[in-house]
Amino acid sequence: MRLLVVEDEEMIAHNIKRHLKREGYAVDECHNGLDALDYVKTTSYDVIILDLMLPGLDGFSVIKEMRQHQINTKILILSAKSGVNDRIKGLDLGADDYMVKPFSLEELSARIRVLIRRSHNTDHQSAILKAQNLELDTYTRKAIIDGKEITLTAKEYAILEYLMMNQGIVISRDRLLEHVWSYDYDGASNIIDVYIRTIRRKLGKDNPIIETLRGVGYVIR
Ligand code: CA
Repeated sequence: MRLLVVEDEEMIAHNIKRHLKREGYAVDECHNGLDALDYVKTTSYDVIILDLMLPGLDGFSVIKEMRQHQINTKILILSAKSGVNDRIKGLDLGADDYMVKPFSLEELSARIRVLIRRSHNTDHQSAILKAQNLELDTYTRKAIIDGKEITLTAKEYAILEYLMMNQGIVISRDRLLEHVWSYDYDGASNIIDVYIRTIRRKLGKDNPIIETLRGVGYVIR
C-alpha cells in the first residue's frame, strides 16, 4: 500500500514516515499543500495523511481541489486543530477521518488500516483477508497457509496484501510497483517478477493461488 504524508513540520513528517515504512507501507512525504496536489495528481495513493495548517495551500483547499478533480483517495486529516467546526468542515469537504495532534502512531496505523479496507473490497470488514487456503492478517502482517505461518519480508507481504485486497481483479506490474514502492525506489523494473517467484516458492511449489495473466499481470481469485 502506498501512502502520502503531507506535513510541514519535517520532524513529525519524518517520524510518521519511518513508523509507516516499518509497517511495510511505501511512503512519500511532502511539506506543503501545492506539492501535495502535484503528488496526488500523478500517483495513485491508497491513503493520504493530511495536515491542515500548511504553507502554499492549506489542507482544506487540498481536499477541495482533490475532490473537484475526482481524486477519491481516502484522506485522513491529522491536525492540531481540535475544534468541532474544523472536524465538520474537513469531513464535509470530503475527508474520511480526522485525528487530532498529539496522536498515537499506533492509532494512526489502525485508522489507516480501516481506510485501506474501506477503499478496497468492502467485503473485507475484518483485519483478516482470506483466499483459498491462504489467510493474511493485516494487523500482525502474518501469512498463514493451511494453518501454518510462513515468513515474508515487508515487500513480499505488501505485494501479497495488495493482490488479496483486490481479489478477482487482475493487477498489472505497473500498478503493483506504484502501490508497493515509493518514489525513492530506482531499481529494476522486473523486480515484481522476482518477488512473485519468491512469494510463490514460499507459498508452496504447487500452490496455484497467484495466477499469471501473460502480458497483463497477476490475480488472486
Ligand atoms: Ca502544520
